[in-house]
Amino acid sequence: ESDAIRIQDQNLVVALRIRPISEEEICVGATPIAHCVDKNMVVLMDPLEDPDDILRANRSREKQYVFDLGFDGNATQEEVYVSTCRLLIPNVIKGFNASVFAYGATGAGKTHTMLGTDREPGIMARALNDLFLEMDRTKEDMSYKVTMSYLEIYNEMIRDLLNPGSGFLELREDAKGVQVAGLSEVSARSTREVMDMLMKGNKERTQEPTAANKTSSRSHAVLQVTVRQRDRVRDILQEVRVGKLFLIDLAGSERAANTQNTGKRMIEGAHINRSLLALGNVINTLSDKNSSRYVNYRDSKLTRLLKDSLGGNCKTVMIAHISPASVHFEESRNTLAYADRAKHI
Ligand code: ADP
Ligand code: MG
Repeated sequence: ESDAIRIQDQNLVVALRIRPISEEEICVGATPIAHCVDKNMVVLMDPLEDPDDILRANRSREKQYVFDLGFDGNATQEEVYVSTCRLLIPNVIKGFNASVFAYGATGAGKTHTMLGTDREPGIMARALNDLFLEMDRTKEDMSYKVTMSYLEIYNEMIRDLLNPGSGFLELREDAKGVQVAGLSEVSARSTREVMDMLMKGNKERTQEPTAANKTSSRSHAVLQVTVRQRDRVRDILQEVRVGKLFLIDLAGSERAANTQNTGKRMIEGAHINRSLLALGNVINTLSDKNSSRYVNYRDSKLTRLLKDSLGGNCKTVMIAHISPASVHFEESRNTLAYADRAKHI
């Protein structure tokens, strides 16, 4: 609760979530090498599995990283939601845009945070639930309409996850801002309905096993929640206030070079790296208040889509994810470096 208040005024919040170590990881002899020292600090220890690696042996084996928020394996879905995302809801109702990103390698816990399960719903369902509650609470004075769209960006192409048969969709920019032409927009009433739709949509995501032999999401899944508002007390039909909330489960950040990918997989890897790099650059530029650097949204579909939802009065939350297991040291180090860079000036 107090964390939420502390970071309420920040336009950019970078959090790190370490999931619990898994049975599989324990089975292969992995040990935990990442932990939260306190609310802000995360430590990663180099497991140094090769004793002859003199270059690494001579370096300090522990590296500390400071973030706005750190969550370890004990953090609940509720805690993560309350301290990163709930504070965005009033802003969106007021007509501001906001976005929340889940970043990390495949298996690090992104989908768990964003989508979750029926028993442990993630940020997406919780955010919509709060919007429904707020609408209910104020329905005497206000008229709201909440709609949602769910799309994926795969190899720089956009597909509608709620209407997968509709082919590839175009991104357009006009006076109303950035739009995806032909994207379905549905209104949902209950959290149950939302969760069902998201689960179904998620099954449509482009997921293919890599040489690392796990199912990795090669696409960015984007839930766009739109809140349109009108004042009931005034009888005249006036311009509605529109706020957008983007909740994004990014593609696995593991590098194409790390898996033995060739051909199609290598192209996917290049696209993923490019969009994650573009996103990191945009966020990094925004985090520097004194910067006059040009923000290059055009570098990827993802940043183009989010053009009017990053910077300005928009709030941005990045939740980076890592496994605590020694077998994932390289991936975790890369993710920590990315998240660290997102905020560093
Ligand atoms: P990603 O989407 O980053 O590839 P997932 O969210 O699918 O990773 O997580 C991989 C596995 O770890 C899943 O089985 C998931 O249920 C589990 N998991 C991830 N985060 C947590 C957590 N915080 N607590 C418990 N289990 C988790
Ligand atoms: Mg996933």
